[in-house]
Amino acid sequence: MTIQCCMCHKIEVAGEWTQSATTPNGLVSHTYCPVCYSRAQVAIRTEQARARARHELNLVGA
Ligand SMILES: [Zn+2]
Repeated sequence: MTIQCCMCHKIEVAGEWTQSATTPNGLVSHTYCPVCYSRAQVAIRTEQARARARHELNLVGA
């Protein structure tokens, strides 16, 4: 089974994430590579902070 990053489409080969020149054959499991995983975490935290700020504004307005 091939492990492929769902964001940058790199594939994991023996613990290394490399840009694949070809489409993987057979079963492909999608996940985040370490770089895209940390990017996704930052995006989630940003969105959480934005949602919290919106919530606090709503409380002030009520
Ligand atoms: Zn990636």
